[in-house]
Amino acid sequence: MLSTMQDVPLLISRMLHHGSTVHASSRVTTWIGEGAPRRRTFAEIGARTAQLAHALRDDLGVRDDDRIATLMWNHAEHVEAYFAAPSMGAVLHTLNLRLPPKQLVWIVNHAADRVVLVDGSLLPLLVPLLPHLTSVEHVVVSGPGDRSGLAGIGPRVHDYEELIAEKPTAYDWPELDERRAAAMCYTSGTTGDPKGVVFSHRSVYLHSMQVNMAHSMALTDADTSLIVVPQFHVNAWGLPHAAFMSGFNMLMPDRFLQPGPLAEMITTERPTHAAAVPTIWQGLLAEVTARPRDLSTLTQVTIGGSACPPSLMRAFDTLGMRVCHAWGMTETSPLGTIARPPAHAIGTDEEFGYRITQGRFPASVEARLRGPDGDLLPWDGTAAGELEVRGPWIAAAYYGGADAEPLRPDDKFSADGWLKTGDVGTISPDGYLTLTDRAKDVIKSGGEWISSVELENVLMSHPEVAEAAVVAVPDEKWGERPLATVVLAEGATVGFEGLRAFLAETVAPWQLPERWTLVQAVPKTSVGKFDKKVIRKQYADGTLDVTRI
Ligand code: AMP
Repeated sequence: MLSTMQDVPLLISRMLHHGSTVHASSRVTTWIGEGAPRRRTFAEIGARTAQLAHALRDDLGVRDDDRIATLMWNHAEHVEAYFAAPSMGAVLHTLNLRLPPKQLVWIVNHAADRVVLVDGSLLPLLVPLLPHLTSVEHVVVSGPGDRSGLAGIGPRVHDYEELIAEKPTAYDWPELDERRAAAMCYTSGTTGDPKGVVFSHRSVYLHSMQVNMAHSMALTDADTSLIVVPQFHVNAWGLPHAAFMSGFNMLMPDRFLQPGPLAEMITTERPTHAAAVPTIWQGLLAEVTARPRDLSTLTQVTIGGSACPPSLMRAFDTLGMRVCHAWGMTETSPLGTIARPPAHAIGTDEEFGYRITQGRFPASVEARLRGPDGDLLPWDGTAAGELEVRGPWIAAAYYGGADAEPLRPDDKFSADGWLKTGDVGTISPDGYLTLTDRAKDVIKSGGEWISSVELENVLMSHPEVAEAAVVAVPDEKWGERPLATVVLAEGATVGFEGLRAFLAETVAPWQLPERWTLVQAVPKTSVGKFDKKVIRKQYADGTLDVTRI
């Protein structure tokens, strides 16, 4: 028997309509460095989004499924692109501006992007790539920047504001199939070619509802979220879409991502929430410790993208900022788990233990663990295996390219369609995930596994350690052993023996690293995570000054 319910497709245009009417006065504030920030209400964003869609269709000839790429920082115009492209039936493709030029060229050509919306400030990055981009017909430049490099190039060049000026402020958005492509994002591709994940209207819609739930970020129109996580990093973790559902204000840092400007944004614009990877928060912590500010409005901080060191969480607790840890991937849209403790643990000694897990699975994300021998493992908080997930906002395949079949590599998707995350960990009986490593980062020493993340977390809780990354290096006797790469805090006097003794207080003796090296900074990936591949290569090339103790 069929239901008697209406079958209204879950479309991004509906989220846009809701946000720009019901939450008309909510705002997107864009930081511009010197001077008053650019402020725009959701109603104004809605009108400009319609204007952009008219311009894309009427002036640039954009049609269904055309890919509209963005090479942009976080700001109001990028939000407009977020809604215009999918709502009109095209596909938004956010480009990671920190990728090496060669990878960017590969990605744009693979996605066959027809239009690139670019910040004027990022033209020095785009212009040298243009001769290699085979599908780009139009470049739309937003904001100030030297445009001289665009003279005489292949694609037609437009100015964003001139293009949308005078266009109608309403658009008759098409009634699309909710399963159609809305947006795409390539994974950072630490191994092999980058892989394109294509989000649907339905997946974005459902994911946004989850972001807003009380057990997730629980933001309302009383909140302002400082969205530091880039809009090119899995749709800024879904926050701009979620904002148009629940009306929270967005504070966008544009390119001002250094600790000083971020602290200034917080003191002057008074956000209540912020989201970023741990490295951003490490930097902010050092800044506000050196130069204390009033950050009192910022009570909720979502950290994800890599493991949040417990020491960082405690440090933020003392500043009155409550960190909420979350786990996800590009392939999971990204919200996979979020670490809100269960009610019975709040206010007890158990609470912190829950907060430092990667978090609990929401209702729509099913999870299972697969052990090294291929068997499924119990949710008992001890058995460790590779995490597999499925759900309505989890990828079922990667984009294969125009006219090509989607890609379902065996190491990424199980025969019955679950996503193999490549993350290794345990799940407690009440559904909290604790990750011990990436499958490829775990240290396999003499048949036992050593968690690089655990060693890093303990090292980073030492007051004289600013950052620490631990990687597996080949060892004749044990197969692999840990190498500790350490960045000391200013004025630190501790030596490797001291750090090893400190580790020995909490870590089993056979797990203690015997190889140590001091570095100025831990190499980072394009989205700010520790780049362990680079450290392993530096070790293999002999470019690190390693001490054995
Ligand atoms: P990306 O698709 O670039 O966002 O990378 C996803 C990967 O980041 C995951 O598979 C994890 O290995 C890692 N990751 C994300 N969030 C966390 C977290 N809270 N703790 C540990 N690792 C994380």
